[in-house]
Amino acid sequence: MIRVIVRERQAALLEWRIVAVVHRVDWVRVSSIQTIIDLLEAEYGPPSRDSFRPEPIDELVSTILSQHTSDTNTMRAYASLTQTFPDWNAVIEAPIGEVANAIRSGGLANQKAPRIQNVLADIREQRGDFALGFLYDLPVEEALSWLTALHGVGPKTAACVLLFSLNRPVMPVDTHVHRVGLRLGLLPAKTSAERAHGALDADMNADEVYRAHMLLIQHGRRTCKARFPRCAECVLHEQCPSATIYLGEEYDVIN
Ligand code: SF4
Repeated sequence: MIRVIVRERQAALLEWRIVAVVHRVDWVRVSSIQTIIDLLEAEYGPPSRDSFRPEPIDELVSTILSQHTSDTNTMRAYASLTQTFPDWNAVIEAPIGEVANAIRSGGLANQKAPRIQNVLADIREQRGDFALGFLYDLPVEEALSWLTALHGVGPKTAACVLLFSLNRPVMPVDTHVHRVGLRLGLLPAKTSAERAHGALDADMNADEVYRAHMLLIQHGRRTCKARFPRCAECVLHEQCPSATIYLGEEYDVIN
């Protein structure tokens, strides 16, 4: 069975490469993201979405805290930070060691504390307060530019603020979305995570972007794992140009 699947995938991959050569491009998208998302939703079920939207400034600080740590640690660090200081002004004015101590449970506290203080101070200096609702009225590209101009805010953090707080159609590209997008040919080979922003959310509304984001993450965690993707049981193996590679390895191991 696996031998048959491998042959089919090799034929599909060859066809994919021929199309690329004929059209003189180094990449063609094999399947539409809509097809892939529909298959993932049939497999995992529709992602639920809380109607609660955090304030953009809260989402921004929380996303900085989430860098290189788990959701649980992020929530602990955020709760500790907001319980230690009465407001964001107090975070800016506090000695950096106190801020670092407050967010210690989130990891990398000595790097995240100055980042949070600098971002907050930058926003207060530019806007006079911490209200970021004005971003809702800007074109998406302008809102992204404004946020990423803040020192310490990259495209993923900016996308999280716009999607999760302001319900704008911007896809945050984390490690799972990036890896799965590359393997599926949704992104050209070797596209960096930074450059992948804007490549996956074209022509989608915010609800569709949210759905795609959550399903790609779920797929990356459960099936398309970083070291050992489970292609033989993957609902996308017929769409995926990388399946041949991994099924081939699996075939070699089994035989
Ligand atoms: S077939 Fe394999 S590489 Fe492709 S999406 Fe599925 S698990 Fe990932």
